[in-house]
Amino acid sequence: MPKEKKGKRSSSKKFNYFIKSQKIDISLPRSFKELVIEGRKIIVVCPHPDDLSISLGATISILSKWNEIQPIIFFTGDGGLGSKSVEERKKEVIKESKILGISQPIFLNLNKNEIKDKDKKEVKKIFEKEKADIVLLPSEKDSHPTHKKAANLAIKNLEKSQLQIFYETPWSLLREFNLISIISKKDLKIKLKAIKSHKSQIERAPYDKIAKALSKFRGGTVPEQKILSYGKNTKPLSNYAMEVFRLENLKGYEN
Ligand SMILES: [Zn+2]
Repeated sequence: MPKEKKGKRSSSKKFNYFIKSQKIDISLPRSFKELVIEGRKIIVVCPHPDDLSISLGATISILSKWNEIQPIIFFTGDGGLGSKSVEERKKEVIKESKILGISQPIFLNLNKNEIKDKDKKEVKKIFEKEKADIVLLPSEKDSHPTHKKAANLAIKNLEKSQLQIFYETPWSLLREFNLISIISKKDLKIKLKAIKSHKSQIERAPYDKIAKALSKFRGGTVPEQKILSYGKNTKPLSNYAMEVFRLENLKGYEN
């Protein structure tokens, strides 16, 4: 279950100022908070049970403090079960939800090899029912074919009023990004704990170490790329870890 939320759903002067100022090329430390003001309903499109924690676990842990986060898991992840069953993978992700303080996931249980019309209808129904203000999803250009399928299924159901935020995965980094989430040591620790709840996946590959390396890599290089400019001394900013995103549809979200 989500943590108790502070505040209520409302528009905010600070938020409107942020949008109108168009300062979206760079997201400085507090900007993710200014963009995603409190009391928002956020859907996270997860192709597999472990994508959320591996790709954006720290940001979700931060956002869950003042928003309602609803993960939707599109596929069962039966291609990477290791020694575990689909049911055990579901238990792993429920454990993850508690660590991150988010709602228990909705499982669509789609077959990655065959998307039927009834599956498309089911996705549509869920998106209409959940009425999210913000949708976080993998890139439609993600190199993982199953991720791409989930992204494309979701994109068809996005509404103009919804803010769309694309996240990167360790398997498919974003070439272009315009939103940065700066992560403290504590946030990173929570992310790694959430990833470790997916024991079946850690058995296959060290996803905790991979995710940590990516967050540190972004933290080390983004300050020069996006915040201070090349050649500048980026310390102590580069001591942080980061997750990066591509933000779209700000105009629709504003209205
Ligand atoms: Zn995945």
